[in-house]
Amino acid sequence: MSLQGKTAIVTGSTSGIGLGIATALAQNGANIVLNGFGDATEIENLRASLAKEHGVAVTYSGADVSKASEIKTMVADAATAHGSVDIVVNNAGIQFTSPVTDFPDDKWDAIIAINLSSAFHLCKAALPFMKANGWGRVINIASAHGLVASPQKSAYVAAKHGLIGFTKVVALETANNGITANAICPGWVLTPLVAKQIADRAATNKSSVAAEEEKLLEEKQPMHKFTTPEHLGALALFLCSDAAATITGSSYSMDGGWTAQ
Ligand code: NAD
Repeated sequence: MSLQGKTAIVTGSTSGIGLGIATALAQNGANIVLNGFGDATEIENLRASLAKEHGVAVTYSGADVSKASEIKTMVADAATAHGSVDIVVNNAGIQFTSPVTDFPDDKWDAIIAINLSSAFHLCKAALPFMKANGWGRVINIASAHGLVASPQKSAYVAAKHGLIGFTKVVALETANNGITANAICPGWVLTPLVAKQIADRAATNKSSVAAEEEKLLEEKQPMHKFTTPEHLGALALFLCSDAAATITGSSYSMDGGWTAQ
């Protein structure tokens, strides 16, 4: 498949799943807008190597996706640099764990802003470009926690359930514009977001990181195996293909059987 000439904004693509998806799209010819936080030199190296290796145009936006105005600027800048916006991957996300009664208000607000509201603001700004082109792809990275819950994750679970609902509305509103909108629901992926949770568990339980990795998988997934950013990149790529032209409003689990139980 060739995505040559298409431009993809992938939020939170300086790390983890977002980087896996940005790489898969670049490998198949898409121009990329990288976004996310991190060391400026490392991000510039990443930007330059993706562009060189795959022969595509790659720009970087440091937009904080908790801020609507920065998302608007990111989309406008992408259209100026690349000509249009064809694919958006709403991937940036954060986690915080605590029982509801102790959950800090500011953490709730940040998780809802970054994991949910950012998708609304990005779609609002980018969909007019896709409608004008008669082609577009919206891919929202939800989670197994968009379909089922776990204790201590109220804001995250609420945001991810909300993201799946939002995906369905975008799908309905764009059904006859050549645009599809789908959610991907990963199980455990060993990225910095999950590595922190494992390190916290190892400290609390006075055990090793390796032992906590095993336990984390066993608690939730029948398959005791991490999904990788490359697996998720391949699924996102499929959703951008012509074969997926009528798949819209769906949620794709890639979770080692987590939500089959
Ligand atoms: P990660 O921590 O490796 O990457 C998160 C990315 O988001 C980073 O690039 C970070 O800089 C960026 N980011 C964070 N806050 C931002 C902000 N305000 N503005 C712009 N960028 C911001 O995490 P990951 O595991 O790759 O997670 C990516 C997505 O996948 C998240 O939405 C997460 O909820 C979801 N997810 C992850 C897992 C998993 O097991 N890792 C499972 C299910 C769903």
